[in-house]
Amino acid sequence: MLLRLPESVSEAQECMAQGAVPVGGATLVWAGWQRDGFPEQAMSLRNVPEATAIAPGTLGGAVVLNRIDERVPEVLREAAASVGTGAVRRAGTVGGNLVGSTLRCLLPAALVLDARATVLEPEGARETDLAEVLAKQHLLLSLHWSDPVTSAYRKLAGEAGGPPPFVVAGAVHRGGEGLCLRLAVRDGYEVLAGTAGCDAGPEEALTALRDTAVGTLNDDHWEVVRQHATDLLARPAVR
Ligand SMILES: Cc1cc2nc3c(=O)[nH]c(=O)nc-3n(C[C@H](O)[C@H](O)[C@H](O)COP(=O)(O)OP(=O)(O)OC[C@H]3O[C@@H](n4cnc5c(N)ncnc54)[C@H](O)[C@@H]3O)c2cc1C
Repeated sequence: MLLRLPESVSEAQECMAQGAVPVGGATLVWAGWQRDGFPEQAMSLRNVPEATAIAPGTLGGAVVLNRIDERVPEVLREAAASVGTGAVRRAGTVGGNLVGSTLRCLLPAALVLDARATVLEPEGARETDLAEVLAKQHLLLSLHWSDPVTSAYRKLAGEAGGPPPFVVAGAVHRGGEGLCLRLAVRDGYEVLAGTAGCDAGPEEALTALRDTAVGTLNDDHWEVVRQHATDLLARPAVR
């Protein structure tokens, strides 16, 4: 296998056109490659500046999970810190987690930030939404968002060999129509999201969220969501 290390978006585009498959830290693909055979060419974006950026409102697709720090909102930082083991976080990347894994702990966090994605296609880079990135398994160059007023992430403890632990992510944004609360959960392998105005406080926001996909959760998980939203809206930044 030839590992290509492009240093710019246009070099990455060339590698892509020549059939190089994207690879992050290989934490997921390595076992499959050893079993089924290696691709002729793979491409890591670790030398492409757009894919390794960490800045307010920006996170590159090749950023390694354990490098995600206070430059990004708490919800995304905590999501990255909750992934697997230290060894997985030292090698696994944002793109590998969001596009390549089934657990996708970063996805609820990215959804509540209302993040947009810059993806690379054979014709060049363009911006799109996360739903399209996941559906079409696009090559993720970077994520972009507007920083929220505040945000938080919680992952429940899981049982070894059991279903994926329940995850809830929340962020409060200030928009033209006042404050709004975005919530997203991972329930099993399914990710559900909802948005509600929250100027009038947690009870009204929760009533409105009941009418979104998040409102379909069972009573135990709804209670986790209720507590998460209530704690988030009680933060000094919101009042
Ligand atoms: C022991 C263990 C525990 C784990 N626990 C968790 C957990 O708690 N929560 C969780 O969410 N995940 C968990 N995972 C999965 C983890 O998220 C992934 O292993 C990791 O994020 C994959 O990143 P990677 O860079 O190594 O991907 P790779 O293995 O390099 O690639 C995986 C796939 O993603 C594709 N890919 C890589 N980069 C990009 C890109 N920029 N754009 C598009 N596609 C890309 C590759 O082509 C490949 O198909 C766990 C994994 C292990 C091994």
